[in-house]
Amino acid sequence: MSGFPGGLVVITLLTTVAGGLWVIFDIVIALLFYSIALLLLVIYHLRYLTALDRWLQIPVPTSAALPDGSSTWGDVFARLARLMRNQSQSHQQLSLALERLRRATSAMPEGVVILDETDRIEWCNSMAEQHFGIDFNRDAGQQITFLVRQSKFVEYLATHNYSEPLIVKQTRHQELILSLQLVPYGDKQKLLISRDITRLEGVETMRRDFVANVSHELRTPLTVIGGFFETLSEENWISSEMGKRALVLMTDQTKRMQRLVEDLLTLSRLENTQNQVREGKVNVANVLHELYQEAQSLSAGRHHIKLNLDTDMKLLGSLDELRSAFGNLVSNAIRYTTDGGEVILSWKSQDGQGVFTVQDSGIGIDQEHIPRLAERFYRVDLSRSRGTGGTGLGLAIVKHVLNRHQAHLEITSEPGKGSSFSAWFPEKRSIIQQN
Ligand code: ADP
Repeated sequence: MSGFPGGLVVITLLTTVAGGLWVIFDIVIALLFYSIALLLLVIYHLRYLTALDRWLQIPVPTSAALPDGSSTWGDVFARLARLMRNQSQSHQQLSLALERLRRATSAMPEGVVILDETDRIEWCNSMAEQHFGIDFNRDAGQQITFLVRQSKFVEYLATHNYSEPLIVKQTRHQELILSLQLVPYGDKQKLLISRDITRLEGVETMRRDFVANVSHELRTPLTVIGGFFETLSEENWISSEMGKRALVLMTDQTKRMQRLVEDLLTLSRLENTQNQVREGKVNVANVLHELYQEAQSLSAGRHHIKLNLDTDMKLLGSLDELRSAFGNLVSNAIRYTTDGGEVILSWKSQDGQGVFTVQDSGIGIDQEHIPRLAERFYRVDLSRSRGTGGTGLGLAIVKHVLNRHQAHLEITSEPGKGSSFSAWFPEKRSIIQQN
């Protein structure tokens, strides 16, 4: 029976033979022959179908276990065997590629955790296990916030704003400082990348301490020198014109150095993460009235200064820090606006957020400089900045203060037309007056 031919050819052959029998004998013999032949054909196919069904029921079907077949069934089984071989080859290649990827990610100096759309751990490498003190075999499928419980991290995960990395001290290993970065990808999945920055932070702390110590040490001698210069100019001890000019210059430069030292000390205080914001209720309107007066005296009548208070909203924050940040923006507007220009200070509430803006009709800034303005000592025009008595640290101080208040700075400017600096405070810092 195994040599029995199949398919359309068989049917045609049987029909021809049955036709012949009908002609030679009669229709009964022809029909009898045709029925028996068709029955044999059905039995033949059923046999192979049963064999195929048995093979499909094997838990891991292999090409070797495929039944032998002839004719059409032989072709079908050969094609199935080829398909199996190809599939097993690509399966092997895929497994190899996965293994290579697993080894590569294990060798990475960064920790990598794949989180699903509900922030459960799908996979992590061994460095992530070390960083977070987790065990993939035990913790797979766990919510990441059950394992990394710091409130800062939980908040970071919930904000969905992952443009900046988050620095956390790993509580399970006190000495470990991690920089965490979340990268959304695919279908609401996230990659959590952790970097050990303990050494980097150590160097940064050393740098901060060094700058703070040097600034502190310079403070006293500068005060003494400044004091002497002031006495010298008040007492009129120097009579020559040349000497007087030198005294004015020396006094100016000493004051500049004092401002620089004060700004450096302010910056190191702001940078120190141990130094928490001294939260209080800040009456922004009062602060702006004071700054308005200061702006008038700094301008000495050279500018038109306006104050627009659209809201009496108060802010939750540090009075000293906010005053210093706003003061820097106001003093910049006066210093970088030519005589006759306009400076407008405004305080408004927009969608629950407090917005402080200083707008000037001054010299303006080219677009290319705007992203770098808040870097320390970054100046658009060094000579002009020195001429206006700037230290190059004003906007760095502003940026730090705003960061500490979860606020951000928006700068728009056009050279020759003027600039606008706006500090946006989040709604959670707004205090609306209750009557
Ligand atoms: P500086 O002490 O030099 O003013 P800042 O950090 O306060 O330092 O400002 C950095 C630079 O940004 C300045 O040198 C100046 O070029 C530019 N700048 C800041 N505010 C303004 C402004 N209102 N108009 C034009 N340029 C400005």
